[in-house]
Amino acid sequence: MANLPTPDFTFDPDAPGACIAGVRPFRNGSYRLDAETDSGKFIIHNYGHGGAGITLSWGCAAKVRDIVQSHLVNSNDKDVAVLGAGVMGMTAATRLLDLGLKVTIFSDRKPAETTSFKAGGQWAVSVIEYEGKRQELKEILKTAFTTFKGSIGQGFGVSERDNFTAKRSENLDAVLNLVPGLIPEPVPLLLPFEGHENQHGFRYRTLLIEPPIFLARLETDLKARGATFVVVPKKFASKADVFSSVPQKTIVNCTGFGAMVLWKDQKMAPIKGQLAMLPAQPALQYLYGQNGYMFPRADHVVIGGTFEVGVCDEVPNKSDCQDLVRHIASLFGKAPVMPLPDIHIHHPDNAPMVNPAIV
Ligand SMILES: Cc1cc2nc3c(=O)[nH]c(=O)nc-3n(C[C@H](O)[C@H](O)[C@H](O)COP(=O)(O)OP(=O)(O)OC[C@H]3O[C@@H](n4cnc5c(N)ncnc54)[C@H](O)[C@@H]3O)c2cc1C
Repeated sequence: MANLPTPDFTFDPDAPGACIAGVRPFRNGSYRLDAETDSGKFIIHNYGHGGAGITLSWGCAAKVRDIVQSHLVNSNDKDVAVLGAGVMGMTAATRLLDLGLKVTIFSDRKPAETTSFKAGGQWAVSVIEYEGKRQELKEILKTAFTTFKGSIGQGFGVSERDNFTAKRSENLDAVLNLVPGLIPEPVPLLLPFEGHENQHGFRYRTLLIEPPIFLARLETDLKARGATFVVVPKKFASKADVFSSVPQKTIVNCTGFGAMVLWKDQKMAPIKGQLAMLPAQPALQYLYGQNGYMFPRADHVVIGGTFEVGVCDEVPNKSDCQDLVRHIASLFGKAPVMPLPDIHIHHPDNAPMVNPAIV
């Protein structure tokens, strides 16, 4: 394989939008996808997808659709509320419109302000637990992958890409373990770019979903199909607040990390992630992932891979972002190798834990 271009790591952390941070809605044990009846309302929960919400979105949306369909099968009620305008809320809303329902989406943030909009966008099973839900997750992965793959070239910001890694990728191997054959097995090779001469590694093949393009398209399509977006002036403070503010009897709860407070969910734990946004580099087409990652998108080359367990602020730290860029540059031989004491690059042993704070 010919040498591939390597990234230009020139980075100005003071440039507007160069550093961003978001909070992964991690849930200990497993994500939540189930239904309950409370105070005369039927609530379908769809939250806690950690670092894999973009990845799983279409699959979870199909499950939500099925639950709502069987609930409303003998009912004249066609009015459904979705809480949350992130990827989970908007994909679920799309599938509810497919059932011919009237859909209203309530949130305190517009889609472009959500965690979903900040995600890197690789299709992989990252930072999520699924205890007791292996079979369900297999189905979710199959539906999600097939739906994303079927949307390539149709303006959803989805493309199929190589992802090079120096070691096996636990997030992509998780996909292969759950659904063998869904993505190709990795190919062992000598890494085909400068700075890695004679270094063995692997080439995986997966999808890149560019959240700014994907979310904008979901929002446009939902509005064109008659869904209503309501930006509430103030965050819902509690479940009781939701029930008194939202008139619909059927409510799909896609509030991500917000579910921790609203549903007093002690299993939720924040995992902050920071991203350094380099200028776009169209010649770069492959992903790179090893103790941090590099995703070349149309808007930016995104450098990420920090996992701050228990931290729930969305304030980026310029020096962390600069270190992150230097770290990935060092892996390409473009900066001296550096220790990373404060960056918390993810390691499987550094697993999330019982939530120390909240409610
Ligand atoms: C740095 C980083 C990188 C990531 N990279 C990837 C990746 O490469 N691939 C991948 O698959 N995933 C990735 N993720 C994970 C992904 O972003 C999340 O899993 C996903 O965004 C969760 O979507 P959501 O719709 O549940 O939550 P959100 O996007 O947070 O949406 C929640 C919605 O609920 C609303 N809401 C919440 N609480 C309230 C309230 N009290 N009142 C009113 N409205 C409320 C919010 O306004 C918002 O509209 C990444 C995350 C981070 C932080």
